[in-house]
Amino acid sequence: MQRLLTYGHQAIDEEDIQAVVDVLRSPFLTTGPKIKEFEQTIADYVGTKYAVAFSNGTAALHGACYAAGVGVGDEVITSPITFAASANCVRYMNGTVVFADINEKTYNIDVKEIEKNITSRTKVIIPVDFTGQPADMDPIMELAKKHNLTVIEDGAHSLGATYNGRKVGTLADMTMFSFHPVKPVTTAEGGVIVTDSEEYYQKMLKFRSHGIEQTPYAQEQGDWYYEMTDLGYNYRMTDLQAGLGISQMKKLDKFIAKRRELAAMYNKLFEDEKGITVPYHLPNTESGWHLYSVQLPEHVNRKEVFKAMREANIGVHVHYIPVYWHPYYQQLGYQKGLCPKAEKWYEYALTLPLHILITESDQLLVIKQLNKLVNF
Ligand SMILES: *Cc1c(COP(=O)(O)O)cnc(C)c1O
Repeated sequence: MQRLLTYGHQAIDEEDIQAVVDVLRSPFLTTGPKIKEFEQTIADYVGTKYAVAFSNGTAALHGACYAAGVGVGDEVITSPITFAASANCVRYMNGTVVFADINEKTYNIDVKEIEKNITSRTKVIIPVDFTGQPADMDPIMELAKKHNLTVIEDGAHSLGATYNGRKVGTLADMTMFSFHPVKPVTTAEGGVIVTDSEEYYQKMLKFRSHGIEQTPYAQEQGDWYYEMTDLGYNYRMTDLQAGLGISQMKKLDKFIAKRRELAAMYNKLFEDEKGITVPYHLPNTESGWHLYSVQLPEHVNRKEVFKAMREANIGVHVHYIPVYWHPYYQQLGYQKGLCPKAEKWYEYALTLPLHILITESDQLLVIKQLNKLVNF
């Protein structure tokens, strides 16, 4: 029997394990020196002034929305084809989520659809780098500049990806990376926001630690004194996570190279197979290939294909259900049919296994099995 091929999986080696053990033996399990070192590692890698580590990527997005000043009545535009967290972070700040439809080729948010949805209440755009391919950031930033909007890029899939030769992280006002185990590198749970803005940086530091800061008044009072000036959260990353992250980051470029190789192999193997639409990429982007998501032909029943693949121990998945289809968003009044391209794309989407531990023979097996189900 074929071993279970999951759609994503972490790659942990002895060096990573040792890095965590070293932190366990150190005086600091949290709020220690590993956090700063991890933040510096990320900032240096992408080329930004600042990085703020959070307990997870969702908390990081929440922090970015706080820094951008999202509040009641503010509209934030994002893609419906993403994980719910890209929209939920807006709701945490009591903002209004506006879903703009995707581009039918790249499956990323369509710049023209963003423009159509801009109103006097729009405050932020959250483009998502779906599957690791950067969103079309230059026109998005231009649009944002014209309308005085803040851009928070959801780069949960795209650490290490590039756009016009520039690394994701340097394109938007703030960019989030996630370190969940299926993401490009992992800290088990973890997230970060990178930015060049000192103002955003200071706001997020305060936000992730209860809203506490060292005000001039506190400094006058003495070393024990601090002030809580706003309602923050405990969204801190631990030093254990940071230690793992520092070790994982040494391997990121190698991981991405491997993912690109695997994606290229899938693309090549699918050339001779009728019916499957492989991912399209803008020529000016280099994807991080977090996911390999294909479109099935319209004559097949996706549910049956999914079931048969799973029965063959091939861990296919579907990314993503349009966010506003979830009952929570339906109850807020979003209607099915809102983003027709996203909905049509969703009906035929299937994510195939792609991660560091996949081999070429695994890929051949995936293709053989899928071909059997599609070309009957
Ligand atoms: C994983 C993910 C997140 C959230 O990250 P967590 O670290 O799991 O909280 C947000 N957006 C997208 C697109 C993701 O894939």
